[in-house]
Amino acid sequence: MAKTANLGFPRIGKNRELKKALEAYWAGRADLASLQETAKQLRADHWTLQRDLGIDHIPSNDFSYYDQVLDTTCMVGAVPSRFQFAGGQVDPDTYFAMARGNADAAAMEMTKWFDTNYHYIVPEFEDNQQFAPASSKAVDQFTEARELGILTRPVLLGPVSYLLLGKMKTPDAEPLDLLDRLLPVYGEVIQQLEAAGAEWIQIDEPALVLDLDEQAAQAFAKAYAHIAEVRQNLKLCLATYFGGLGNNLDWAMKLPFDAIHLDGVRGAGQLEKAVAALPENALLSLGLVNGRNIWKTDLGAALETIEKTVAATGTDRLILAPSCSLMHSPVDVAGEEKLDPTVRERLAFATQKLEEIAVLAKATNEGRDAVNAELEANQALFARLNDSSQVRNPAVRQRLQSVSDEMFRRKSPYPQRQAAQRAELNLPSLPTTTIGSFPQTPEIRKSRAGFRKGSISEAEYTQAMQSEIQTVVRFQEEVGLDVLVHGEPERNDMVEYFGQLLEGFAFTQNGWVQSYGSRCVKPPIIYGDVQRPEPMTVEWSTYAQSLTDKPMKGMLTGPITILQWSFVREDQPRRDTAYQIALSILDEVKDLEAAGIGVIQIDEPALREGLPLQQSERPEYLDWAVKAFRLATSGVEDRTQIHTHMCYSDFNEIIEAIAGLDADVISIEASRSDIELLDAFVDYEYPNEIGPGVYDIHSPRVPSVEEMVDLLRQMIDVLSIDQLWVNPDCGLKTRQWPEVKASLENMVAAAQQLRSELAKQ
Ligand SMILES: [Zn+2]
Repeated sequence: MAKTANLGFPRIGKNRELKKALEAYWAGRADLASLQETAKQLRADHWTLQRDLGIDHIPSNDFSYYDQVLDTTCMVGAVPSRFQFAGGQVDPDTYFAMARGNADAAAMEMTKWFDTNYHYIVPEFEDNQQFAPASSKAVDQFTEARELGILTRPVLLGPVSYLLLGKMKTPDAEPLDLLDRLLPVYGEVIQQLEAAGAEWIQIDEPALVLDLDEQAAQAFAKAYAHIAEVRQNLKLCLATYFGGLGNNLDWAMKLPFDAIHLDGVRGAGQLEKAVAALPENALLSLGLVNGRNIWKTDLGAALETIEKTVAATGTDRLILAPSCSLMHSPVDVAGEEKLDPTVRERLAFATQKLEEIAVLAKATNEGRDAVNAELEANQALFARLNDSSQVRNPAVRQRLQSVSDEMFRRKSPYPQRQAAQRAELNLPSLPTTTIGSFPQTPEIRKSRAGFRKGSISEAEYTQAMQSEIQTVVRFQEEVGLDVLVHGEPERNDMVEYFGQLLEGFAFTQNGWVQSYGSRCVKPPIIYGDVQRPEPMTVEWSTYAQSLTDKPMKGMLTGPITILQWSFVREDQPRRDTAYQIALSILDEVKDLEAAGIGVIQIDEPALREGLPLQQSERPEYLDWAVKAFRLATSGVEDRTQIHTHMCYSDFNEIIEAIAGLDADVISIEASRSDIELLDAFVDYEYPNEIGPGVYDIHSPRVPSVEEMVDLLRQMIDVLSIDQLWVNPDCGLKTRQWPEVKASLENMVAAAQQLRSELAKQ
């Protein structure tokens, strides 16, 4: 009999109960006991739900108050010394201080979990780092489920992935050097779980899908030999996800496990090879239901894969599971009454995904006839999709087909464009600008909410926004900035705003996914062909331009960022969806240009995060991602200046792609980790203009004129003065007006001081 498993259930709750409880606790509105009560109830509900859906291997220890990597840091007692942890069990104050900082110690760093939009707390390893058990959470939650009569499969983040996700404080040391010290703690926890009655344990090693070197391969061999030694009858499911095993397949398949979980969605191409390499007697946990998306599974296609696999393994050695933990998917489609029924019927959130797994298991064990009705309904759904005019818009397809090579290239090479833009814009050297957004005050949010709910009229709303734009424009003129922005008061979010104005997008009421800690996001759903029915930003930008003689920068979000921060349809390549969005942005760019907007910024903060985890898949992605941006921006005259903005700092890997965007000006985050971030641009001899952020907007601190002059001098040393812009490192929407005013005044003063110094030379 094939079994079923889940790798992890979303912990936030269907109505974001955990978020609300956490925020009440942090604000002092609720005590610890009430937070713990909510958490316990969520765990009980989720275990019971999974049992009722017929899942055999139900995870425990997948719950976390903040983050599963932080929980692992607690489990192994790797609390950084600045938190003054005295030993014993990590208490809630220390735990939340590590996540969020406190009066005495800065929070630990946070970064993206592989290529998802979830962020984890980065482990910090100090000089002479020691480990000791400091959290009994894994055992406690196993016992808690057992008391409810549910035998769970506890989940641990594996020791090698845990170390690889961390950072050494000591230069030249590597986290994997710490493996020998770490393993005894894992050994102890695993033995405790076995003693508490666990029959299976799931150890997640997502690092197995990365490109790994020999040292990492040896670390895996050593770690799993140790784990094999400490467990008696406890069975191990080694879970990999977010890709195939790539070049690690041969040695990974020889690690001592009782079952291995493979991502059959993202690693589909390697499945056959992996099945052939499966050790005799080992079980295969096959993830064919996509845990990273919100669409129903094509059950017929999944069953074909299962039947092929069963031919090699038999049903007894098969476990059916989602591709990865379901924490990357919303909880339940039930309750999404406001969605168009033809979109809604295509959706499967975590709960529905587990139902699909149960159907697949029944078909595998009892034959397809046993689930005939489900299969027929599923097949009919996919057939409808193929000839739905809502999904396939002939005009959009026709247009995509007729995209020609010239549409990916600006009319002239950069030097000619630069000359045309200088004549047109007449800017001083070291031109000053901002990244786009200005503080989003409570009044702005109130107007937007009022308009959405219908409590204020469109005319009142427009007037409120225009008045805000006036304030922002007047402010920038007073401060003396050179290229102005309208401040984006009308935008809730840089992707949602455009999604709501484009065809092919849908929005859920409750499709929340955890981003980090208590923060949840509700990504738009791209369900059909994308096109722009009418201009989206032209009215706001031209209104703002009418208030000033200085150039007004039009502000758009790029096609890759819109794609990356949405749930994307799976019935066509991501590239095609990106190009459809690019053509819609192109329409907007052309309309802005025609309306007299001479500077247009198209932000692509997510270009880097779309990068596939495995090196071999990167060139193809970068090729179409760069082309999508060029398609969106190439249709303008030489005199129109195209800007782009990116907020991450890891430029080295993709510097060629960034240059390939061929934006006239790029603004980047550089102030936080100093000037070294510019190395990539310097080494590459970045040809166009560039504005490395001269101050960090993530902090309320106001930088001094001298500080920014000093930073600009360093930049002038390595970049040419003709290519340098002066700007903050990101948008200002999360900041308060007083600090924005002081910081921008100092920034403009710094630019002016350098200009006059340079004029004297
Ligand atoms: Zn930014």
